[in-house]
Amino acid sequence: MNKNIAQIINKAIDGGVIDAQELRELFAVNYLSEESYMIQYASHKISETASNGKAEVHAQMGINVGPCPRNCQFCSFAEINKIFTESKQNPLDEIIENCLKFEADGANAIDVMITANYNFNDYLNVARAIKTALKTDIPLIANVGDFGEEAAKELKYAGFTGIYHAIRLGEGTVTAIDPKLRWRTIQAAQKAGLLVGTCLEPVGPEHSLDEMVEKTIYTRDMKAVYSGAGRRITIPASPLAAHGMLNYGQMGHILAAVRLATGYEMVGNCTHEPNHIGAMAGANLLWAEVGSNPRDVEENTVRGWTVKRCQDVLKEAGWDILEGPSVMYSNK
Ligand code: SF4
Repeated sequence: MNKNIAQIINKAIDGGVIDAQELRELFAVNYLSEESYMIQYASHKISETASNGKAEVHAQMGINVGPCPRNCQFCSFAEINKIFTESKQNPLDEIIENCLKFEADGANAIDVMITANYNFNDYLNVARAIKTALKTDIPLIANVGDFGEEAAKELKYAGFTGIYHAIRLGEGTVTAIDPKLRWRTIQAAQKAGLLVGTCLEPVGPEHSLDEMVEKTIYTRDMKAVYSGAGRRITIPASPLAAHGMLNYGQMGHILAAVRLATGYEMVGNCTHEPNHIGAMAGANLLWAEVGSNPRDVEENTVRGWTVKRCQDVLKEAGWDILEGPSVMYSNK
């Protein structure tokens, strides 16, 4: 066992703050080594303490498809990827029915996702209709494009508890979005009282250790309610397809290193797509999905998992499942 890695792991277990160089050393460890398994063990322990042994399943409802001019190369909606050439929205009654099913199945939060160019007022109307139909206090989370302070307040008034937002790997290089704009959106949301969930994503073999370190530390600095790591899924014909994809073993190591860097104060550590290795490596948040999906090339996702399947994966990795509204999105 490498002594330096052992020291960094112990520092994280003892509640110390991992610095950039230490995080770089963690990411650089081979995912099939003894050191990696120790990192994953420590990650599971920290996640367990941070969330009281309870894991959550958040559900994502994608409500539209269509070409998006922000052109994130990893996304099936990017205009340049030429997967969706027409804009379409799922019918409102179907959206509400899916959200009610998520709620009844035991999801702990519902994310409502749109492409970045979807009409914001239409989005608020859909959100209000969902909020009215829901039977419990399950938090509603906005997954939308960038916005300013006024829009943040409108999201809050419409009934949202928080947002999902990330400064993605390759932001501003493989996307047409300035990373500073992503930061401003996060700040506007927090100023309006919205909680922010985030992630190191979408991770692929093309990313340097330095960029992974930088973006992970962003997730810590933004005081998010959860971080974690999600892998980039190859969209056929996308410019990123040539890089291939990471495997779940590699992702387990990465999400564990992220957990050691984000520490006990951050309740959640997510991974996507759902998998047993990630849940063993310290992920205490998985995602169920229906509707449109930026990793899928069909209008209604074929990749999406049900709430129950996600819960079963978490249980197999030793997690109890939280019942009721998300603790991550509750400031508790
Ligand atoms: S990730 Fe969002 S902003 Fe980027 S192309 Fe897809 S829908 Fe548009």
